[in-house]
Amino acid sequence: MYPISYNNYSNYGQFYSPQQQYWADNNMYVRPYYEQQREEQADNVAKTAGLAGLLQVIALGLNKASQWFATKLAAGKEFTSAANVHHVANEMVRKNNLNVDIAYINDANKFSYAQRYNLGNELEAVAKGQNAFFADKIKLAVAPEHKPSLILHELGHAINAKSKFTKLLQNSRRYAPFAPTAILVANGLFSNKNDGKKSFIERNAGLLGFAAFLPTIIEEGLASFRGVKAAKKVLNNPAGLNILKKNYLLALSTYILAGIGLGVASKQAVLEDSLRT
Ligand SMILES: [Zn+2]
Repeated sequence: MYPISYNNYSNYGQFYSPQQQYWADNNMYVRPYYEQQREEQADNVAKTAGLAGLLQVIALGLNKASQWFATKLAAGKEFTSAANVHHVANEMVRKNNLNVDIAYINDANKFSYAQRYNLGNELEAVAKGQNAFFADKIKLAVAPEHKPSLILHELGHAINAKSKFTKLLQNSRRYAPFAPTAILVANGLFSNKNDGKKSFIERNAGLLGFAAFLPTIIEEGLASFRGVKAAKKVLNNPAGLNILKKNYLLALSTYILAGIGLGVASKQAVLEDSLRT
């Protein structure tokens, strides 16, 4: 790359800079401005492509890290007996006036629950211990029978669904996956391709993508906080509570990684777009 900054190229109509004009007048070798300009652009493209590759590596790394946390979470111990968890869960429902059915899913009951609540094969993963969920529409919270403690977090979601603000946070997760596309569209609307400057959106695409997922991360953290709080009130078992907190932190980590992943995807979308134009 040639340091062209010491020459004044602000006048685009000018083919040679004063310096080049001097060289040209004196029969010295000179490269026309447009050639340098093209080199400069090629250099920027190379840099951008390098960043795109780096982002790809980061995205893969995030995926691996997320899988690691998920495996750790799956191997996590239960913090107390199933009977104690059931007791805490029932207390959460009673004290918060929740209109929610609780189901502890196993291989024997998964089909009857699926039929009763008109579900597809969602309970398959729950029976295996790989998932738990709360569905506001059908007022159902489920957890694996052999990992009942996950239900306290799901009931935390049920409590969040009752208040307007936290329900808003909950609903935002439906729109978060569209962040890279939305950022791309907004960048197209607000950036001026001709002035050569990057728009605010282009410069901050990563941060904006992460911000789109932040309400989800906050709502997830709050659901866990409510579960831990309820367990603390009903049971007097600090050592066990630390296990519960650790399990819930692992779960939250996967959400934080997903948020960073959305930021990376948003940055990638904007970068790919700038390479195309
Ligand atoms: Zn959750």
